[in-house]
Amino acid sequence: MSVIALQDLNKTFGTFSAVENLNLVTEDGEFIVLVGPSGCGKTTTMRMIAGLEESTSGFIRIDDEDVTGQGPSERDVAMVFQNYALYPHLTVYENMAFCLKVRRWTKERIDEQVRRTARALDIEGLLDRKPAALSGGQRQRVALGRAIVREPRVFLMDEPLSNLDAKLRIEMRAEIVKLCRRLKITTFYVTHDQLEALTMGHRIVVMRGGLAQQIDTPQNIYDTPVNRFVAGFIGSPPMNFLNATIEESGLLTGPGFEIRPGGAVKDALRQRTGTIVAGVRPEYLHPVQDGVANGLGSFRGRIDLIEPLGSQVMIQVAVGEELVTAQFERGPDIAVGDAITLTHRPNSAHAFDPQTDRSVL
Ligand code: ATP
Repeated sequence: MSVIALQDLNKTFGTFSAVENLNLVTEDGEFIVLVGPSGCGKTTTMRMIAGLEESTSGFIRIDDEDVTGQGPSERDVAMVFQNYALYPHLTVYENMAFCLKVRRWTKERIDEQVRRTARALDIEGLLDRKPAALSGGQRQRVALGRAIVREPRVFLMDEPLSNLDAKLRIEMRAEIVKLCRRLKITTFYVTHDQLEALTMGHRIVVMRGGLAQQIDTPQNIYDTPVNRFVAGFIGSPPMNFLNATIEESGLLTGPGFEIRPGGAVKDALRQRTGTIVAGVRPEYLHPVQDGVANGLGSFRGRIDLIEPLGSQVMIQVAVGEELVTAQFERGPDIAVGDAITLTHRPNSAHAFDPQTDRSVL
């Protein structure tokens, strides 16, 4: 188990800032997910931790040892990348044994370690095969095996599942989480898939344009995003944003809607007047019978789109000038063009400053 500390970490390419002032201290054995849109600096951060990319300034410590100037081989860090390059001419066994041989382990010790790791990953039956004779998921498992067989201090995984189909991704996602929990290896995991981030990480680093926007638990990031970008990036379908007027009553209103903030958002808005960007997640919206919203917020409009999702349905409703997305349990039949009133769950409204995009909290 290891603690990794990134301190004021920066990377510039010429005048372009790829990673800016990144600060993070992991717990022992923590699973950290870096998430963000393409080009936000995730891979550059990983490459700096691995020692493949020199940081422009700042420090990287592993267990209190300053590794900033060290090369990759000195850091005891293992990596699995998207295109998990296995040696094609070697068997699975030889692929996994390779780095242990380089370390001059004895044959017996290598054999024991390779077989133990293969057992943990359920690939014992594949040890004699060459990579070409493996499925995508099996290859991925071997790549994981090759990385963990040497029990590194830190595990770095950069979009390791992106070549797999949807079903296998979900399976492997669960396996990776279980494996890392069992081995208690501190892990950094890169994805651009917000659902993967929510389901896998102890903590998530949401990045944008080289800057960490928020570093927190999945629950806190989902419940209290610090700004509009995080609110829109985490959660699917994305949060609805509506330009609204703050009324004296505390309601946030606009053409066709009124939103009733609760809790801390309501308190924070007491200090403000004028306009605000209100946010409500689609999964916190549902239709009400006969258009009565029972004192909660309401959104009135006509259904523009219906997408059946099995037990749930996603709809888009034209509310004033805006399209509002809602997702809820399938109920009585609805059709495009129907008039509908939606309400939101109590305490589910967010509010963002229209100038800074920051949450009012
Ligand atoms: P993706 O999800 O597409 O892999 P990312 O978040 O991993 O993106 P990085 O690969 O870290 O992003 O790149 C961050 C930014 O730095 C990008 O704008 C990229 O073009 C730039 N960049 C990365 N490596 C270099 C380099 N060697 N020289 C110049 N610019 C670079």
